[in-house]
Amino acid sequence: EIQVYDLHKSFGEREVLKGISLTVHQGEVVCVIGPSGSGKSTLLRCVNLLEVPTSGRVFIMNEEITDLDADVDAIRSQMGMVFQQFNLFPHLTVLENCTIGQTVVKKIDKAQAENIAQGYLEQVGLGDRGSAYPAQLSGGQQQRVAIARALSMDVEMVLFDEPTSALDPELVGDVLGVMRALAQEGMTMMVVTHEMAFAREVADRVIFMDDGVIVEEGHPDLVIGNPQHERTRAFLQRVL
Ligand code: ATP
Ligand code: MG
Repeated sequence: EIQVYDLHKSFGEREVLKGISLTVHQGEVVCVIGPSGSGKSTLLRCVNLLEVPTSGRVFIMNEEITDLDADVDAIRSQMGMVFQQFNLFPHLTVLENCTIGQTVVKKIDKAQAENIAQGYLEQVGLGDRGSAYPAQLSGGQQQRVAIARALSMDVEMVLFDEPTSALDPELVGDVLGVMRALAQEGMTMMVVTHEMAFAREVADRVIFMDDGVIVEEGHPDLVIGNPQHERTRAFLQRVL
């Protein structure tokens, strides 16, 4: 579970988040949509403290990550992060990419880590590519490795920041398929995306952000299908 209370973030004079409050419940899939520059990535990065908020509080599984005394690494280890750029280690194989965090951070022994990683690689359809290097895979396959790597850390939730935006159109479907399956298994997910069809189908709730505030949130049939605010309508007209 993620709870965010009155989050503000400024870069210098510029206030990018202007009081964001939200909850992502256990097992819930929340998609965050909104125009470029509205603060979506900044919000996600504040949730795992990659950016330090200017003010406001963030709780992960009821532990406050914004508490100055928080064990940030321990709290963060419950969250997987999947970015637009896959950030795989180029000099490690697919399997090694999925075991290194387990062995180094979690001190799991190598054989067990490989077992766990192999299971997740199979789940994302790459069970036979463990010995390949990232450069030998397509972008969509690399992104699925990034998802398997996140899951290999036995996380409670996964944060996605436009995981398909860097992909060729024909590779997007495979990655969204993996995410859809993950959602159906009950993973807690916060997904920044421009994929309106995915949001409409998979999200339990959609949050529309504009200019650092939440303008509108609710069931996808409402926010995407029948938006109440002019700003939401204008945005959707541009992207749909
Ligand atoms: P996009 O859809 O293009 O990814 P976004 O909604 O994710 O946009 P953010 O990346 O959160 O938007 O950026 C919001 C605003 O904050 C932008 O104006 C951006 O220039 C600014 N910003 C983000 N990170 C920094 C930073 N580290 N330093 C200064 N300004 C930043
Ligand atoms: Mg962004």
